[in-house]
Amino acid sequence: MIINRRWIGTATAALLVATMTSTVPSGAHAAPANDVTTAVQQKLLAEAAVAADQAFRTADVADTRVDVTRKDGRGWAFGTAVLVAPQGEDLHPSGWLFVARQHRGGWQVAFEGEATFAELTAAAPASVVAEQERDTFTAPRTMAANGDFRTGMRLPFTVGQSWILRGGPHGWSGSPRPFSSIDLYGGDERVLAVRAGTAYTMCKGWIRVVHDRGYATDYYHLWNNISVDGASVSAGTFLGNTGTDITCGGSASSRHVHLGLRQNSAYVAVATHNLGKWVPREGSVAYEGSALHGSKRVNVKGTLYNYGALGFTEGIVDSNGGTSVSRRSGPGTGYGVVGSIADGATAAVACSSNGTSHTGRWGTSTLWNRLTDGTWIPDAYLYTGSANPVNGWC
Ligand SMILES: [Zn+2]
Repeated sequence: MIINRRWIGTATAALLVATMTSTVPSGAHAAPANDVTTAVQQKLLAEAAVAADQAFRTADVADTRVDVTRKDGRGWAFGTAVLVAPQGEDLHPSGWLFVARQHRGGWQVAFEGEATFAELTAAAPASVVAEQERDTFTAPRTMAANGDFRTGMRLPFTVGQSWILRGGPHGWSGSPRPFSSIDLYGGDERVLAVRAGTAYTMCKGWIRVVHDRGYATDYYHLWNNISVDGASVSAGTFLGNTGTDITCGGSASSRHVHLGLRQNSAYVAVATHNLGKWVPREGSVAYEGSALHGSKRVNVKGTLYNYGALGFTEGIVDSNGGTSVSRRSGPGTGYGVVGSIADGATAAVACSSNGTSHTGRWGTSTLWNRLTDGTWIPDAYLYTGSANPVNGWC
């Protein structure tokens, strides 16, 4: 690793650097840490040194939180690694799951998102990385870049409750993009998993749930958070209460959950995805914006009703400002109108076909969807999270 220049100038750092250079003749690399916690701390500080956010570049070892949750006698370890954010600023901590293997007198440490993380978790004994976790960590990556934004996620509270959208899309750490996060509070203040997955306590007040399709969700500022290390959770499992916890940094002026969306081990823009049949939309700056349910728009400080998850073969009727969409007997306006479907309704798609071209809120498309009742509507007026057929071609 590269020695963090931040360390130079303090008594402790000078001592450490001296030790390192005395044991490594080349002086180019630090001596391998002989305990795993130190090795993970060193990697965290290497990450901090190149962090996009300047505030993290001044991190030192006191700003690291390493929790070795599992270890075996043959030199394997697993746990969480967190860089604490400065308190009182609009920042949030950075955190990774890690796996480590004793190697050449030191430790090889891999963080989530690195190629070696999948390699090492595949090789680790089941006592350190459980079979179910290994399947998750080594699963082929699903790419939103293919235009598939389906999440199967609900909002992070009881279905049927309504909570306040306190903050629209913003960065996990405030203003920097991607705008992965939204802030919510209200109802019974019980924060629940948005979808089934594997849950980890990253830090006090902070839970991460790793889902299918490469997604994960982060929940921060929680009070009474559950303590989990790779536990299976269901959609709706209690994770904690909304709170103002800032044990790992940042600020929270009033109770809420800071919900962040990740995919492939990095924060991704939450806009265009669907949570509880709402699609967040970005404003011109962080924390502004809105959420859409069909054509119904709720701005920041408005109320979001949790409709539950949108299924992978379902869509929400979005007439782009109207009240309903005509159902037709076939895939095009040359076919007769056989009824209508209300804006905001959930439609189950049986299959899709090409027909006449239409332009809706989400773009122009010749795709039409045959619904499970046999009637057809244009894909331009149905938010599914994908521009492609969600249940195959007819
Ligand atoms: Zn937030």
